[in-house]
Amino acid sequence: MSTEARGSLRVVGLGPGPEAWLTEEARQALALAGHVIGYHTYLSRLPELAGKVLHGSDNGDELTRAHQGLALAAAGAHVVIVSGGDPGVFGMAAAVFEALEQSPAAFRSLDVAVLPGVTAMLAAAARLGAPLGNDFCALNLSDNLKPWALIEKRLALAAQADFVIALYNPASRTRAEQVHAAFAILRQHRVASAVVVFAQAVGRPDEALSVTTLAEADPAQADMRTLILVGSSTTRCIERPGALPWVYTPRRASGSV
Ligand code: SAH
Repeated sequence: MSTEARGSLRVVGLGPGPEAWLTEEARQALALAGHVIGYHTYLSRLPELAGKVLHGSDNGDELTRAHQGLALAAAGAHVVIVSGGDPGVFGMAAAVFEALEQSPAAFRSLDVAVLPGVTAMLAAAARLGAPLGNDFCALNLSDNLKPWALIEKRLALAAQADFVIALYNPASRTRAEQVHAAFAILRQHRVASAVVVFAQAVGRPDEALSVTTLAEADPAQADMRTLILVGSSTTRCIERPGALPWVYTPRRASGSV
């Protein structure tokens, strides 16, 4: 057999948790992979890893993992880099292209593909009803890779533009205060009765959802496994007995903000 067999790199979204939310394409890519790169916690959730070389890591050094994946693929291996949710949404895909830009020109002919997954925002929205039924935007509240001032600006403008807002990475052990600052900005631009959802660990055994208002929301409820949804001026609830209300945003919006 040729030792120069063409390798491949697949950047694979695993969805938010359960296997039923793993796409068939992702499942097949994992089955074909010789090497799987990703966070330990993601690797531990994967089915059928026998016979594969696992490169688990704890740290947030995405660029190093991306370079590692490209180098292995260039050497002829079939490599999967996994990301939770969708790899293109605050995940590994952008890190892979940052690494590709920095790599030797020959790497540009590598067989690279990004395989989509169910992002946390869509999983949370599906649980609640249809909160993203009208225009929405997604913001990453982490200031690890961008200045906090930019986050504040985008948040204020998104709030003024009356988008439904999905907040990824609202807090972590080292970033507990910023989510409070974010809510202070939201409260300047949105009415107190605006719907707010905390969706924690969606799809996992410890899933917890809560529906509240901007006035009553306690930002301290958010952790690194929480996605926050902030409704627009038209987002509303349909109460139902014995369960959380449905949350939805009607398809029609008036011109007034
Ligand atoms: N690529 C991922 C997002 C990575 S950023 C995706 O597409 O979903 C990590 C953030 O995603 C977390 O801080 C949290 O805000 C959100 N998140 C990821 N999985 C989640 C889940 N199962 N439930 C709720 N939020 C989740």
